[in-house]
Parts: sequence; structure tokens; C-alpha cells
Amino acid sequence: METQGAELQSISPSPEMGQMVCGTCRSLLSFQKGALRVKCASCQTVNLVLEAHQVGNVKCGSCSVLLMYPYGAPSVKCSCCHSITEIGVSSICN
Ligand SMILES: [Zn+2]
Ligand SMILES: [Zn+2]
Repeated sequence: METQGAELQSISPSPEMGQMVCGTCRSLLSFQKGALRVKCASCQTVNLVLEAHQVGNVKCGSCSVLLMYPYGAPSVKCSCCHSITEIGVSSICN
């Protein structure tokens, strides 16, 4: 008597999936890597996904060192000379 009709349906965490917390209701959301937005199943809020590699580069206005900043940041503080460099919004579509 062999009953091997059962299918394997184990849900394993995939490396292709990312997780973030909904900004509105704090639910933990799973999304596919590469997705720009993830919709919360609880409150229907569309959250923007900010990956670690989604950073921009800007040169410090004082010492010209190359700085990295997350997209959307209005300004970045230089780690070398500690001056604040305003980030131009011309390249960012809102
Ligand atoms: Zn939510
Ligand atoms: Zn600097």
C-alpha cells in the first residue's frame, strides 16, 4: 500500500524575495526582488521599495569627494569635511 500522491508544498524563503515593513500599518510585506513598489495586503498602501543598491552619487560641494545617498534624500552630509551638499532633484522624477 503506497500512498505517495501527496505533493511537496513546503514554502521556503526564496533568495529572490525581499521583505519590508508597511509604512502605514507596519505589516511585514514580502515582495519579489526588483519590484519597485509593493502593495500592502492589509491597508492597500503602495509602498516604495528602496533597495540597498538604489543609491545615487553626488560630489561634495566642498572637497569634491564622491558621496553616496539613498534616492529621495534632499541633501547628504560629507563624511570627509562634514559639509552639507544639496542634491539636485532634476534627475529624480517625482
Ligand atoms: Zn499596510
Ligand atoms: Zn566634503
